[in-house]
Amino acid sequence: MGKVTGFKEFKRSLPEREDAAARIQHFNEFDRGESDEHIQKQSARCMDCGVPFCHNGCPLGNVIPDFNDAVYKEDWKQAYEILDSTNNFPEFTGRICPAPCEGSCVLGINNDPVAIEYIEKSIIEKAFEQGWVKAYQKQATRDEKIAIVGSGPAGLAAADQLIKLGYQVTVFEKNTRIGGLLRYGIPDFKLEKSIVDRRVALLEASGVTFKSNTEIGVDIQVDTLKAEFDSIILCCGSTIPRDLNIEGRSLKGVHFAMDYLEQNNKIQAGDTFPEEQVISPKGEDVVVIGGGDTGSDCIGTSNRLGATSILQIEILGKPSNRRSHKDAWPLWPMTLKTSSSHEEGCDREWAVMTKRFISEDGNYLSGIELCDIEWKEDQNGKFVMQELPDTTRVIPCQKVFLAMGFLHPQQDLIHSFGLKVDDRKNIYAQNYQTSDPQIFAAGDARRGQSLVVWAIAEGREVAAAVHAKYSDVVPSKVKFEQNLLAV
Ligand SMILES: Cc1cc2nc3c(=O)[nH]c(=O)nc-3n(C[C@H](O)[C@H](O)[C@H](O)COP(=O)(O)OP(=O)(O)OC[C@H]3O[C@@H](n4cnc5c(N)ncnc54)[C@H](O)[C@@H]3O)c2cc1C
Ligand code: SF4
Repeated sequence: MGKVTGFKEFKRSLPEREDAAARIQHFNEFDRGESDEHIQKQSARCMDCGVPFCHNGCPLGNVIPDFNDAVYKEDWKQAYEILDSTNNFPEFTGRICPAPCEGSCVLGINNDPVAIEYIEKSIIEKAFEQGWVKAYQKQATRDEKIAIVGSGPAGLAAADQLIKLGYQVTVFEKNTRIGGLLRYGIPDFKLEKSIVDRRVALLEASGVTFKSNTEIGVDIQVDTLKAEFDSIILCCGSTIPRDLNIEGRSLKGVHFAMDYLEQNNKIQAGDTFPEEQVISPKGEDVVVIGGGDTGSDCIGTSNRLGATSILQIEILGKPSNRRSHKDAWPLWPMTLKTSSSHEEGCDREWAVMTKRFISEDGNYLSGIELCDIEWKEDQNGKFVMQELPDTTRVIPCQKVFLAMGFLHPQQDLIHSFGLKVDDRKNIYAQNYQTSDPQIFAAGDARRGQSLVVWAIAEGREVAAAVHAKYSDVVPSKVKFEQNLLAV
């Protein structure tokens, strides 16, 4: 490693952020840029530990110590080449990855972990600035045509890998714009959409054909697709949200989080909606049900749209600030997370159950009835919840956003293809191959609701599985070849 004593000399430091009060006036990203020297000092904290557990922590197997070393030595081009060899889209993960790699950083055992995600973003932005990120200008060299259904990170990563291997690749997307949840789920203040556009333009220039506004199963029938393409990869996401079927669920003002976030992302992109259809929390009290990423995005969006108050409730208990034996290093810490949206202002309560939604006029939501609960282990070792007496209360609110996770992919499409599902109703696909040998699956549609980094990893792996079908290369060798192609 370049600086053997770097971890002793420099403290972890992340880029400064625009003040919360100022940044909620707009929807743009708010991290300020830092100097190369600042980033190099952060890279110098990497210790060259004997076994770098961060490799395993990262679902992509990013070769983190090597790019840290290259950054420290000011060889940014080499750092970019190392990063690009395992990660198709570091500009996405460098912004929105929860960074499981940092949870398994050896320095993190008794110090703050290396700021890996920040270094990753700095490398890829430098690479774009310097013009090192180029379209892969190779004509299709193979006869096989591959259809990819869904343009989220899994579909885009599969397309990127397959186009590099010479296949003819078409991505079908039912929505107007390309990007899946990168485009319509994650708000601009976490990931500006110009970043997605920049990558989509590169993929197009490399030969990927995108067909948006095209829903497979509706605009193009499954049999037609099967007749026109040699292989089909389903990357259609996990889109069915978990509902809360209690009294008052149909009141006006109770919305699924994704209906709210998707509409707002479209409005930020310039789309318009009839006034009566716009979901606006301006001047209203908001309750967000669900403590994950989606709930957090509802908070950031509601603050920017002028909500008067925001309360986030979670049915599970409050996580501890410290790891326990169940999430000991190098596992992902199940500790309390405070997102940038939380910092911008909201109240948070844990171990709270929603009993009913209330309306004063029988039409519009005016309040929510809540109670506290306790989780207890029963005789079979299963945790069950119990309502705590005398804790029932009514909180006035005019908007509720249901952000309680996603159950599984849309089943109609899976049925039209005649595919098997697993016991959670995700597409059953062993080694990415579904029950139909012509059809593969990857991303949230296969593994269930997950993360962008996992979607990219699955996109790479499904491409390797497809390539293995048409060549005598085994999938692990394919990965190796693709890495060489990328460097
Ligand atoms: C609000 C929200 C915030 C999130 N924030 C983060 C975060 O900060 N960090 C993180 O790592 N992860 C985050 N996630 C999770 C992450 O976005 C997903 O895990 C990831 O996008 C899954 O990628 P995917 O390609 O499998 O599916 P998706 O991104 O869901 O893409 C699937 C695509 O398939 C299209 N499609 C579906 N059916 C059809 C059809 N029949 N025909 C044509 N197209 C079709 C859909 O329109 C969609 O564009 C978040 C998720 C949500 C909902
Ligand atoms: S993709 Fe995520 S887990 Fe992997 S190195 Fe980057 S921040 Fe860490």
